[in-house]
Amino acid sequence: MGLKAIFFDIDDTFYSTSEFSKTARLNSVYAMIEAGLKISVTDCFDELREVIAEFGANFGNHYDRLLLRIPQEKYGNVNPAVIVAAGVVAYHETKYKSLKPYEDVLEVLRILSSTPLILGVITAGLMNKQAEKLVRLNILKYLTPNAIFITDQMGIGKPNVKLYKNAYKNLHLKAEECMYVGDNSITDIDPPNSVGMVTVLNRRSGKYLDVQGKTKPDYVIHDMWELLDVLKKNFGITTE
Ligand SMILES: [Mg+2]
Repeated sequence: MGLKAIFFDIDDTFYSTSEFSKTARLNSVYAMIEAGLKISVTDCFDELREVIAEFGANFGNHYDRLLLRIPQEKYGNVNPAVIVAAGVVAYHETKYKSLKPYEDVLEVLRILSSTPLILGVITAGLMNKQAEKLVRLNILKYLTPNAIFITDQMGIGKPNVKLYKNAYKNLHLKAEECMYVGDNSITDIDPPNSVGMVTVLNRRSGKYLDVQGKTKPDYVIHDMWELLDVLKKNFGITTE
């Protein structure tokens, strides 16, 4: 009743971030080996995983760092810049080809965009990266343009509750008129719960599947069709 807006998380909610990252990284490893790096796929992938763990997923020079850690005899007289470029290009090519939303995400957003609901995003990450994901996922057409909030751009990170407050206040809405859908109990459920938003835990994919929060979500879903059911049954949202 009285629901006016749904805010969504992006990663592992609109698409399988974990699966995509793994594919993209693996493709970059194959490309670097093809460009002249003489180590096994497993060793290279493990080393890359370490770099990402040590310097963070949003660090800009994973492949340069990776090469610094590999003895020069493993690439001989091949210019390391070319090997790095091969990795970077393969990563980006995977993005062009494989960064796709779950099919039901597209369908359900399309259906919901014909209702009076505001459809927004509250996402944690770098401004340009998160914005690019929304463009690549091809879902901007279903979202309300002034309802997209990115932590990097707001200067507030998850799980700070101010992030959620600022989002609904910005749209002149009350907490209880807003729903948040995300996959991480600690960052996506506990904070919006604490201000009285309606919370939906998307238990579908990703590394936060087994994370336990302090509070329970109002609803648990496994795909967006289930969200549509929740909206119909509990909030009187009619579609078609
Ligand atoms: Mg997420």
